[in-house]
Amino acid sequence: MSNIKSSLIFLAIKKAKKILINIHPHADLDAVGSALSFKKVIEKIDNKKTVLIVSPEVVKEDFSFLSDDVKKIKVIDFSAFDFDSFDLFLILDASSDDRITGSKKIFLPKSIKKIVVDHHLDNLVDGDIKLVEDKACATCEILFKLFLDWKIEIDKSLSTLLLAGIAGDTVFFRYFSDVKKQWKIIDHLLNLGADFNLIRDHYFSYSLPFLQFLGEFLRRLKIEKGKNKKFVWAAMSFEDYQKFKLPLAGQSFVADLFLAAIKGVDFGFLILEKEKNKLSLSFRSKAEINVAKIAQKLGGGGHKNAAGVTIEGEFEKEIEKILKMIKSSNI
Ligand code: AMP
Ligand code: MN
Ligand code: MN
Repeated sequence: MSNIKSSLIFLAIKKAKKILINIHPHADLDAVGSALSFKKVIEKIDNKKTVLIVSPEVVKEDFSFLSDDVKKIKVIDFSAFDFDSFDLFLILDASSDDRITGSKKIFLPKSIKKIVVDHHLDNLVDGDIKLVEDKACATCEILFKLFLDWKIEIDKSLSTLLLAGIAGDTVFFRYFSDVKKQWKIIDHLLNLGADFNLIRDHYFSYSLPFLQFLGEFLRRLKIEKGKNKKFVWAAMSFEDYQKFKLPLAGQSFVADLFLAAIKGVDFGFLILEKEKNKLSLSFRSKAEINVAKIAQKLGGGGHKNAAGVTIEGEFEKEIEKILKMIKSSNI
């Protein structure tokens, strides 16, 4: 990590009195762990500062096991929000304006000073200070290094938040970009008191409709041939999704656990119509295949082996277009 950037971020935080932190839409453990841990650290630096965590949508998944601060996350309309009453915006775990504002039509104002800390490929956010490490397995990994650099006392609750972010983005400690280095970080967090069991009990806890939804998605998977790669895919319409009571994060879950694990395929994707005419795509791939490239072509992004995009349009028509594009792609 760049020590200069670490110092610059620390100074900017010291100087600011009112600080905003984002949580991206479809909040995950890394987004929530990053925002909540950073809030705690700012309050440790100076408890007179105001820190507000904002999101363009209600955080649907229940992350309250992590901290009482989850209840204080404020849902805002980014097109109408008064940014001028804040000194600094900390943008975490989000690689483009729409992943912050929740809409491709809403952009962040230039006026507010922005610090970006992220681990997505090709972060496009216009930040005054940008710390982007795409080899980090989670934004929480980068934050841990910053907090150590700033000599922050990392207690049980702080280390639990950071470990939760890492658990989320590594699919419960399965996928790493540097397995040796990142297990050391996990070991360090555990030694600081991180509550492994708390995270595990939250992570592995499913309702029956959730599991039935996974089963249905798996049943629909089909293997197809692209130009020079084999892929697997499945889709589910909003009508069918409703039958399973609209389980949250089920699509990422199926993608994380199974898509890249199917024998003989190079990559895979799931299409879920989460709302009528709003299609959410999750891509996963084996190590050498970069699915972020396909997601970017469709207007989204992500990481080399896990990427996504949301597309608006009619279910059948969009699927046809997506398949055509993917089959002709040189991935
Ligand atoms: P998901 O398949 O939704 O679990 O997302 C996989 C990865 O792709 C995550 O790291 C997300 O941050 C990223 N991702 C998902 N949707 C988008 C999007 N619309 N734009 C950019 N990145 C995305
Ligand atoms: Mn995230
Ligand atoms: Mn992340």
